[in-house]
Amino acid sequence: MSGYQKLDDDDAVKHRSGQIGRTTILGKNKKRSNSGHRWPITLMEVQLLRPHQSAPGPTKVGRWGKLSDSELLEVDFLSKDPSSLPNVLLEIPQTEALPEVEFAYDTSQTIGVKVRCVHCRYENHNRGFVLQFENGDRVLVGGTCGKKRYGADFQTLERDFEAARQRASYLKRRNQTLAHAATFRSALEQLPLHPAFVSYKKTKREFSRSVTALARALHDLPSDGQLYLPTKVRDFEAENRRYERWERQMGSLTKTEMATLQRGGKHLPPRGHIFRDSEEPHWKVKGIDFFQSTHSPDGELSSISQRAGSALANLAQMQNPKTFELRQFFQAMNDLLNVIERQTLRLNEMSSALEAANVAKIVEWAQKRLDKSYSFDGLVIRHTSDGAVAEFRVPNTIGFPDYSFVSDFRDQMNEVRNDGVRS
Ligand SMILES: [Zn+2]
Repeated sequence: MSGYQKLDDDDAVKHRSGQIGRTTILGKNKKRSNSGHRWPITLMEVQLLRPHQSAPGPTKVGRWGKLSDSELLEVDFLSKDPSSLPNVLLEIPQTEALPEVEFAYDTSQTIGVKVRCVHCRYENHNRGFVLQFENGDRVLVGGTCGKKRYGADFQTLERDFEAARQRASYLKRRNQTLAHAATFRSALEQLPLHPAFVSYKKTKREFSRSVTALARALHDLPSDGQLYLPTKVRDFEAENRRYERWERQMGSLTKTEMATLQRGGKHLPPRGHIFRDSEEPHWKVKGIDFFQSTHSPDGELSSISQRAGSALANLAQMQNPKTFELRQFFQAMNDLLNVIERQTLRLNEMSSALEAANVAKIVEWAQKRLDKSYSFDGLVIRHTSDGAVAEFRVPNTIGFPDYSFVSDFRDQMNEVRNDGVRS
């Protein structure tokens, strides 16, 4: 059974490095409970494979944990071409000392060729780590091979390295964000003042004032904006019931009664279709948000602008922020940027809503559902009530604000331009 063999090889490798844990063994036991006898054999093999060398000692605090924020900002975390570094050994040196993770590499993004792994002993990986010993010697190890060689200690080393790398990345992003914050904030404050937002609010208000009943009916539609109109459909069930009723009547007649019916030509089955009332889809209203929303986008944007402003001010004032606080800031700010874009795009909902074809279909519906007096000539909706004519004039479109500053700021905030790549 090859799967079994493979697992045992893994055990052996892990065990030589002194890190197989009880949970692993129990885990395997559980997995193999179907083939019962495997468990003691596995345990015995594990016992036999106890390492000759003693396991590496407890992890000391690595250099990554000791660096200050300003030092972290100066550090290279990635190596472009790890094989070209000085003092790269082809074999792991005979020492019990633990190396440090010095760099990560991903040569698929740089030189495009796999590099030799000290564990696999051939060019086996694009991604991996440069490990450095205290005397300056280096080895290159594939992404998952460090763990095979150094076990849990390597996971600690890798975690320290990745934590430092991530913090450095957040610190860089914080600096970039603060460098562009003032420009972003002033553009964001200006955004809701664009005439398109003013037009949105004004148009919505006028629509409600002039054709109030229609505005209310659209507001109350289900949010999919589907309009239905009454229609008649054939009621086949009713026709069947009528036929069966006739059959029963005929069956109960005497010959004389039947003859009378035949003479009058009244012995034939009932004819003619039966219809029932139904609803048929008429039109799916475009830009339904324009008719249904209660908050105008400029108001939403003003409140987002305040929140973004205070979040950025807070970021600037943070003394020695924790990494998780920085992560939370970027999550929250990215969410706000998405909302800014969504609110801006609501202007398109108004354009769709007021397209002549859309308004024409809505008015057709209103004529049948609400009041015959609704009309639309391509520009103006009219409605007569108590002899007074109310009019709603579809406005000309008023441009669209340039909101590219939002995605610019997203890039400035999220991109780590020089992610510690060592050339
Ligand atoms: Zn390897």
